[in-house]
Amino acid sequence: MNTNRTDTIAAISTAMAPSGIGIVRISGPAAVEAADRVFRSKSGKPLAETKSHMVRYGHIVDRDTVLDEVLVSVLRAPDTYTREDTIEINCHGGSLVLRRVLEAVLDGGVRLAEPGEFTKRAFLNGRIDLSQAEAVMELIASENKTAADSAISQLGGVMRRKVEGLRDEILHETAYIEAALDDPEHYDLDGYAAELEKVLCEVRREIRAMLETCDEGRILKEGVATVILGRPNVGKSTLLNLLAGEERAIVTDIAGTTRDVLEEQIVLGGVPLRIMDTAGLRETGDAIESIGVSRARSCAETADLILYVLDGAQPLSPEDRENLTGLFGKEGALQKEVILVLNKGDLEQRTTVEEAASLLPGAPLIRMSAREGEGLTALSDTIRDMFLKGAVQSSGEVYITNLRHKEALERANESLTLALQSIRSSMPEDLYTVDLMDAYGALGAIIGADVSEDLIDRIFSEFCMGK
Ligand code: GDP
Repeated sequence: MNTNRTDTIAAISTAMAPSGIGIVRISGPAAVEAADRVFRSKSGKPLAETKSHMVRYGHIVDRDTVLDEVLVSVLRAPDTYTREDTIEINCHGGSLVLRRVLEAVLDGGVRLAEPGEFTKRAFLNGRIDLSQAEAVMELIASENKTAADSAISQLGGVMRRKVEGLRDEILHETAYIEAALDDPEHYDLDGYAAELEKVLCEVRREIRAMLETCDEGRILKEGVATVILGRPNVGKSTLLNLLAGEERAIVTDIAGTTRDVLEEQIVLGGVPLRIMDTAGLRETGDAIESIGVSRARSCAETADLILYVLDGAQPLSPEDRENLTGLFGKEGALQKEVILVLNKGDLEQRTTVEEAASLLPGAPLIRMSAREGEGLTALSDTIRDMFLKGAVQSSGEVYITNLRHKEALERANESLTLALQSIRSSMPEDLYTVDLMDAYGALGAIIGADVSEDLIDRIFSEFCMGK
């Protein structure tokens, strides 16, 4: 990636689809000048004479051809996204219009921005740290409110403040040890080990607490991977449709018609779910159906949550017991969160709650009528308790949603553990300052304090164009 930060870049920053407006963004020292070359303002005033954070109306021209009627925002450094002079041209939102305007801008010595380059400049110019830059990416990609909330709080610098606090503590202790080793007359290390051990244990505890949010963080971002299982005709598709709020799966009276695995993203009581509706678990001779069955099993393997649906209007089937104990029971191969859904509660019941619950002791059981839409609140409360422990609403909490952050925290945790072992076995101080600095460096990677150019390039290249 080009690292020359003094050049000027431009890109289309909005989606390339027909829409009301589309924005061409220019950033860099020559941004205003480049825009003036193609902009004819209605008032006759050039952008160069326009105050910062003002908008001008006019046309974008390519020599004598008018390309579009536009509003141009002039945003001067340093109060801009990139901290450089920035021009935003609000065009009409057709992809041809936007491309022509961009090409006209590029003619004037401005080069096309690489994916993520605007945000990269914001980072390199010190406006945001790496965790905030990544939050921008997560915010753009977020598909549900909770993921967006988490990204916004990371964008606000929650992660940076937390990580900087921990780094300060480590640095403070390391500096003290170094000073004591250099100047033993003025710095005393007697009794210091016990003090240090306490501080490091606390830092490590906080790192571990952050690591513990990884599962919740992943769930916020991706949703609880949920599989609906059960024998044919118990109401799996009806339940999916109820959850999704629309007709998606094929619902029929003929057993075994849901053949494919469909996926639906929904938010149930604030908890994002990724629901896969699957074919019945029944072993069958039907070739197409059995593809569905084997997929159901493999889906269950990757799921976080299984909704196992039973038909309350039918007597308990030995098949259900076999399926459940076989797949999820104590001896079962899959250790999954399972919720038993006793469906068709609106019909006369031929399976009691006790009988159904005995299928998988310990698993919560919810009585529902998928067709009538009953029991949904109980289901969503149960799922929330299982996966988010009610904690997700507490603002300011740091959730680890990014694999790179998780790995960095794990490295910091390991280095601190090594340092603590050395301290406890009374090793010389200079031995564990190395581990302390490793932990410091690992934490620094999260906010981009000690990261290599290569890593920065890799992270920003994952961004979309124009961001
Ligand atoms: P699947 O094979 O498990 O996906 O089952 P379906 O969702 O296709 O449902 C099978 C049949 O049961 C359909 O006729 C549904 O309308 C019906 N059904 C599903 N849920 C309920 C329910 O809660 N109450 C009643 N009375 N019928 C239901």
